[in-house]
Amino acid sequence: MTTETIDRAEVFSRPAAQINEEGELVVRASSALGCRRALWYAATGYEPMNPPSDDSLTAMEAGNALEPVLVRAMERAGWKVDAPDPQDPHQVTVRIGPNLLVTGHPDGTVRMPVEPGEAPPQLFLFEGEPETPAFGDPMVVEIKTRGPDAFKRWQTLGAERSHPASVAQAALYSLGEFGDLRDAVIATMDTGARTWDWERIPAGRLERAMQDACEWLGEVASHHSLNGPDPDALPDRDFSANTWQCRSCPFLAVCLPGAAEVGEDEQTETEEVTDEEARDAVAAYAEAQESIKEPEKAKRAALDTLKAWMRRQGDSKATVGGRTVTLVSSTRYSVNHRRLNEALDPEVRAEIVTESESEYVRVNT
Ligand code: SF4
Repeated sequence: MTTETIDRAEVFSRPAAQINEEGELVVRASSALGCRRALWYAATGYEPMNPPSDDSLTAMEAGNALEPVLVRAMERAGWKVDAPDPQDPHQVTVRIGPNLLVTGHPDGTVRMPVEPGEAPPQLFLFEGEPETPAFGDPMVVEIKTRGPDAFKRWQTLGAERSHPASVAQAALYSLGEFGDLRDAVIATMDTGARTWDWERIPAGRLERAMQDACEWLGEVASHHSLNGPDPDALPDRDFSANTWQCRSCPFLAVCLPGAAEVGEDEQTETEEVTDEEARDAVAAYAEAQESIKEPEKAKRAALDTLKAWMRRQGDSKATVGGRTVTLVSSTRYSVNHRRLNEALDPEVRAEIVTESESEYVRVNT
């Protein structure tokens, strides 16, 4: 496996995969671990038939616009960030096998602030010379923006479980940028709360992500070697019709035409509740919320008064007006997910941090 680095302005909207003039398959790093059939459609020139909706484009543009905000937040927190100019992105290319290249544009490299006790001793030539902040080794950083639920999921489960494709991307970029696999950082902003966090993936685990990505990509490369750029020789599908990957796939109509139609039919079939009824439900919910606001406020104020009184009394239980009032103490336990995710392999974490799905309706009023 060899690496080369090319600096030039690139168009981010190029297809997920292409076949270059030398007949090699060139895959975008951001498409690793997606769908191999979708890559084949892109590489062999199928026209995307399912363009992203205006809402998806807006969400994507908002995410892109927030990336420099996250870079500045990292710098304010003491990180040294080296991010390329978005107008002049820095492309890296990684060769995986004789007929397969992976290219992409890393978001940059970062150096982590080092605690004074961990920093190597500084040599001073002059007395009174101010200490300069110390930083760790440069690492590739992947900058992501995610909605509140995806952000929470990532923090809790760690990127290898929640977003393995991001880890594969970071591994490919690390190899492209440095020629070896080093620790990498995934920094993510919650687009709802506009807070951010980061996770460091140790080099050993990036190596595993790299192996998985190579295995996955190797199958497309073998398919290419076997069939040449034949648009009719389609690889197997990596997803099924009811997944979000297929629903948002630009090639859904050609790959699963039945599913595209069924999707539309299902939409009309499940519309048993009219828009009018949905609007009425929201109005009823808002009205109910409004009506409990004042009593809730009064309850909180009364409890605050009682808490102050109980504390002054020094009792945890008292009878007031014929009712028992108790000052309840509880201990909260929290898990430092960043430390946990860095310390444990994904398989071990999966035994400790489990997830289950539930469905509910939330109305913001
Ligand atoms: S529709 Fe689904 S299976 Fe077909 S190419 Fe797209 S993601 Fe792959």
